[in-house]
Amino acid sequence: MKSYHHPLGMLLLSVAGTTVAAEQPSIHLQLTPILQGGQVVAVDVKETIESDKPLPQLVISKTLGPLQHIVERISQLQVSDSQGQLSLHQGIATLPDALGQTPYAWQTNRDTTGIVTVSYRAAVSTETTPGPTWELRTEAKGMSAAGNTFLVLPESQATYKVSAAWDLSALGDDATSINSLPVTREATPARIAATYFMAGDLARLNGSGVSSPFRAASTAAPNKFATATLLEWAHNAYQKYSDFLGFSELPPFTVLFRSNPMISKSGTELPDALMVAANNDIELSEMQQILSHEMVHVYLHSLEGASWFQEGLAVMYENRAPFALGFTSSDTYLKAVNNTLLTYYSNVRKDMDMQAATAAFWTDARARLQPYYRGAMYFIVTDSRIRKASNGEHNLDQLLVDFLARSREGKSVAAQDWVALVRQYIGADADKDYAAMQSGGFLVPEDDAFGRCFTREKVSMPLFDLGFEISSLMQVPRVIHGLQPNSPAAKAGLKEGDKVLKSVGLDEQQSKPSSPLTLLVERNGKPTSISFVPTGALTEGYQWQKKNGTAGETECRR
Ligand SMILES: [Zn+2]
Repeated sequence: MKSYHHPLGMLLLSVAGTTVAAEQPSIHLQLTPILQGGQVVAVDVKETIESDKPLPQLVISKTLGPLQHIVERISQLQVSDSQGQLSLHQGIATLPDALGQTPYAWQTNRDTTGIVTVSYRAAVSTETTPGPTWELRTEAKGMSAAGNTFLVLPESQATYKVSAAWDLSALGDDATSINSLPVTREATPARIAATYFMAGDLARLNGSGVSSPFRAASTAAPNKFATATLLEWAHNAYQKYSDFLGFSELPPFTVLFRSNPMISKSGTELPDALMVAANNDIELSEMQQILSHEMVHVYLHSLEGASWFQEGLAVMYENRAPFALGFTSSDTYLKAVNNTLLTYYSNVRKDMDMQAATAAFWTDARARLQPYYRGAMYFIVTDSRIRKASNGEHNLDQLLVDFLARSREGKSVAAQDWVALVRQYIGADADKDYAAMQSGGFLVPEDDAFGRCFTREKVSMPLFDLGFEISSLMQVPRVIHGLQPNSPAAKAGLKEGDKVLKSVGLDEQQSKPSSPLTLLVERNGKPTSISFVPTGALTEGYQWQKKNGTAGETECRR
């Protein structure tokens, strides 16, 4: 699921304006994983920084999401130059980090001269914490993280020459490393922070010195398929999507996988890279779906950063692109789109104002899904109107390719430009649908929204409803409150005040409506599992069915 997807890259690009100093500074990273009891417990980082200016203050994000404390991982921070060691005191950061927060800052007691060495130890999590999934963490076969969760970097908007080297001797003879630094090896500290680093006994595709701009690596060892199969699928998708979305030249790209026992799947897009995390029981098809989702983001980079626009298109095309390109069958496609529809219609927050829903990202998991699923519904509706108005001659793919071309030509690609483009095909409905998506109107696609082989059916479905306040599971400690006496949760034995011991993938739960939820609660001092299906009152929605005696697979894809 896309639960913790953040447009990390987008935010960074906006603050990463390049300023080239008279003499370009350089930064070399030396990374040494420390092993204890067979697991990486820390990374020793040594930075060698050369510049004709004194070292700016050093910064790192304080937190990443409410529960991931970053700065607390850093210890033994030391800075020295040609005159010896410097002492450090707390500074005040002036540039926001990738999530718009104020980082922690350290200042030196005097100006540095010449080559500066910065060294420290970053503690590595051995457990998964709720929050963005790119945190510094170990797993059986190695470790990985985005730079912003373990690198202390100069607070500067200058472009540095950058290089990274690993000492992997602790990880065994087979250990290798990969990172997503720009191919030019020139980057601002913000871009270095947005680089993903991975080391260990990696499964990989296109390791080093290959001509293809695509590389992939994984520390995860899923139980249900060979990692190589996924890496190859990713490569294939990357080539086909580039073609589908009108990109003649492929940008260099790195795809990374790691495991995350807590959630079934989650991905994030970084500059020139994407990282997908999943638990080891995931099916190949689910992995392909999340990969497809993140891959779509890669091509949407240049478009407006609003969440509904990015995520709506990504949720729609995560299913549509593989189907249109012949990667998946019509049955798989139908199941996936019906799931998108169910997730939208069964969500009690579908009438919430979009801006308010986006703002509630960390406090209400139902609101959090609005940019994703309502966004997708808006694009599905728009696509269906274009198909209808043009008697099947046009669809959203062409508009998207045109819009992406606009952005490459440097023209404005804001929301109003998009609506203006849609208006050329469907007239005033373009404005009506856009307003409905923003204000929380009820969205219903036209009958042939998913092509000629499928038809619309009105259905009754239960709303997603935990049976208690959702905030019970979105804070620490997790204590059940507002329990409704007749809810499935109460009937299964859950009690007001129960302490929930293990965090729950709420986004995942909502995107699999009517599947059971298991809570691990403390009962008489002992952990006890309670399972129930978190559904409530019936609501009205739509599903699509396969028409009888329809055309073959190729016809269905149009
Ligand atoms: Zn996304």
